[in-house]
Amino acid sequence: MNEFRAAVIDLDAVTANIRHLRDVIGTPHTMAVVKANAYGHGAVRVAATALAAGVDWLGVADIAEALELRQAGISAPVLAWLHGPDADFTAAIAADVDLGLSSTAQLHQVAESAAALGRTAQIQLKLETGLSRNGVHESDWAAVFALAAELERSGQVRVRGIMSHLSNTSPDDDSRANALFERGLAQAIAAGLNPTLAHLASTAGALRCAATRHSMVRLGIGIYGLSPFDDASSRDLGLRPAMTLRGQIAAVRRVPAGAGVSYDYTWRSPEETTLALVPLGYADGVPRQASGRASVRIGTADYPVVGRIAMDQFVVNVGNAAVAVGDDIVLFGDPELGEPGAVDWADAASTVNYDIVTRIGNRVPRVYTGGA
Ligand SMILES: *Cc1c(COP(=O)(O)O)cnc(C)c1O
Repeated sequence: MNEFRAAVIDLDAVTANIRHLRDVIGTPHTMAVVKANAYGHGAVRVAATALAAGVDWLGVADIAEALELRQAGISAPVLAWLHGPDADFTAAIAADVDLGLSSTAQLHQVAESAAALGRTAQIQLKLETGLSRNGVHESDWAAVFALAAELERSGQVRVRGIMSHLSNTSPDDDSRANALFERGLAQAIAAGLNPTLAHLASTAGALRCAATRHSMVRLGIGIYGLSPFDDASSRDLGLRPAMTLRGQIAAVRRVPAGAGVSYDYTWRSPEETTLALVPLGYADGVPRQASGRASVRIGTADYPVVGRIAMDQFVVNVGNAAVAVGDDIVLFGDPELGEPGAVDWADAASTVNYDIVTRIGNRVPRVYTGGA
């Protein structure tokens, strides 16, 4: 491959991860979460691959993300669950996007948009079960369920699902959230609603807390082949990382002992050595916090990042290795192939693997392998 810099996305890995997760989890429905440009992997390509691999729902955070899928010709069910006060519910309803809703105010807005269009909005009610984010609090369940039932009878909405989201704090916390969710679900049904979907678990809950699976799970990080757990690798979970962030050496320089490297000279060479320049920087999502802490793969060895990671580039110390301009560099990919993992960069930058893949910038072309 001769890209100067690229995020190579292996769609066959996405397919294999989805098949494996569906086998292990076994829920009647599976949602692939493709928000945030599919965690940096490319929403449309991943969505198409995920549908071909057997998922029947797509999930995104906001309406603009859902409309991007529709504009690309994807007609499968899509749910969007995070809305600002001026969200374009009309566009979402017109495009057959399910809306995750969290308040009577949102229900009124959606009902009005649906009435104006002469259509029924497909909605899913989001319950607060412990995250303290935007779900409907238990004290408001009765009012929200009653209003939803009334709007259902008048044809403005159809409540297809009841949902919530886990904190993944501990098995106890997730069990408590699940119990509250089940209470909410029962109360919704008692209020006359007839949801066909109940969903609570993302990848972590789906894998480690079977009781939270209900009729659908929402899988994000797992389909990208990364682990949501500190104590289990991709391989431990039977997953393969889909993204490889790579580049080509842009310059090679032999320097004497004492040479300063990059801004502020946070590193000076203790001895004569060879430095290689990597043409990716924090504008490309390489975390500046990993300066002096991460490594990259060149050939069959790992070499440390030295000095500050700059906006467009950083330097690695290759010692006396014979490297040349144009040689392939892997920042992260599949640890099973000997490459650093996204998790290694996450550890170096004190963050999580989700953050590492999702932050890869627009300047990095996505290059696809495999897939339909
Ligand atoms: C992002 C998100 C998910 C996916 O979580 P993973 O840990 O990546 O599997 C599921 N549900 C909701 C509501 C989300 O915001």
